[in-house]
Amino acid sequence: VGNGPAAINAAEEIRRMGSNDEIVMISKEVKRPYSRVLLPYHLRGKLPDENQMFIRDEDFYVKEKISFINDEVVDLDTQSQKIHMKNRDALEYDRLLIATGSSPFVPPIEGLSGKGIHSMWTLEDARDLRPYFVEGKSILILGSGFVSLQAAWAAIVKGLNVYVYELMPRVMGRVLDEQTADRLTEQMEKFGVDVRLGASTRKVEHLADGRLRIHADDMEPIEVDFMIVGTGVRPNTQFLKKTKVNHERGIAVDHQMRTNVKNVFAAGDVAAGPTAFGEQMIHALWPTAVEEGKIAASNMLGKDEDFTGSLNMNVTQMFDITVASMGQFIEAEGQDVWEYDLDGLGNFKLVLEEGIPVGASLLGKSELVEYLGILRPIIRKKQTIKCEKSEFFQYLRREYELI
Ligand SMILES: Cc1cc2nc3c(=O)[nH]c(=O)nc-3n(C[C@H](O)[C@H](O)[C@H](O)COP(=O)(O)OP(=O)(O)OC[C@H]3O[C@@H](n4cnc5c(N)ncnc54)[C@H](O)[C@@H]3O)c2cc1C
Repeated sequence: VGNGPAAINAAEEIRRMGSNDEIVMISKEVKRPYSRVLLPYHLRGKLPDENQMFIRDEDFYVKEKISFINDEVVDLDTQSQKIHMKNRDALEYDRLLIATGSSPFVPPIEGLSGKGIHSMWTLEDARDLRPYFVEGKSILILGSGFVSLQAAWAAIVKGLNVYVYELMPRVMGRVLDEQTADRLTEQMEKFGVDVRLGASTRKVEHLADGRLRIHADDMEPIEVDFMIVGTGVRPNTQFLKKTKVNHERGIAVDHQMRTNVKNVFAAGDVAAGPTAFGEQMIHALWPTAVEEGKIAASNMLGKDEDFTGSLNMNVTQMFDITVASMGQFIEAEGQDVWEYDLDGLGNFKLVLEEGIPVGASLLGKSELVEYLGILRPIIRKKQTIKCEKSEFFQYLRREYELI
């Protein structure tokens, strides 16, 4: 179920492994697989043609011998192994992969629905938003996570007046430390974004001319043409309500992407899978969806393949600055921090526990992201660093120059 990266890579892996088993793919969205990651690039005009967001050819399903059903799964019976859809008869399965991703969560704020209130999550959303992304329009973005700030950047590039309202005291609170978040905020302000931190939005008024008036505590109301709500997401598990599949905070899966119910697997944004630090949780990242989809496929075919665990990594390149974080980038008690202030490049911070790197963050030039890439397998393999702080950076730089 689904046709995002987790599902597509699972199906392709099944074929790659030589299986001719029947594959049926069900998705409630457009048939041709596209990348959500590219939606902001489309809106900011970097990929002006909608077709540039598709990630497989039109004949993908034919080539891979996949039957595609455009429908929504509404219920599941794991006893009789049947899937129930909105608009057609139930379908039986031998093995099921749930790769339904997640959907934006809209907080219960008065007036936060209807005309002018949008999400930026699907191709359909991008189509709805396109007419608003023109010079001179004004937008309020609610929330300041990764997707929200991508929307803000796209809006700035297109010449809109941009407000960002964030309830927390800093932007991208979950993936940036305080210092990095402050630098990013400064940079956003330089580009003309009106960033309001600690903003508690109370009510959205729909005016007669179609514009929106936003009321937040202790602030003068503002008027905008439209809003994007980026206040987090929830895994798409509604159709599991009557089942015994564990899905409290995403569908719990083991190292083989198996749920607690026989013949039911899950992967991608909907799955709380193994992570590099042991804890089972959702890592809503494209590469994780791809890896999990492939592992699920292999085990659905009866192989015995384990996932080593996902490592969170967030890279944000906008407002002419690169900020990124990976692993446990905010130091806990007892952990060491190696900070590098790099002339002309930016700042790089490494967190270590007993000599083993557990996380890193950076702010500066895009070259530094490559350093994270070099560090990634070291964190995943839990390798101890035996050299001094400065020598280790020389090592990263040398490796970078060899790429
Ligand atoms: C704007 C934006 C930018 C992003 N940028 C990045 C980035 O830079 N780097 C990164 O790593 N990640 C990024 N992501 C996250 C990334 O896109 C997701 O992690 C990835 O798409 C998850 O893949 P998935 O296959 O698990 O789910 P999805 O891609 O969400 O696919 C789920 C599929 O299931 C279908 N579905 C859901 N419920 C049902 C149902 N009941 N019945 C039938 N079909 C159903 C959906 O229609 C969809 O086709 C971004 C996301 C967004 C929205």
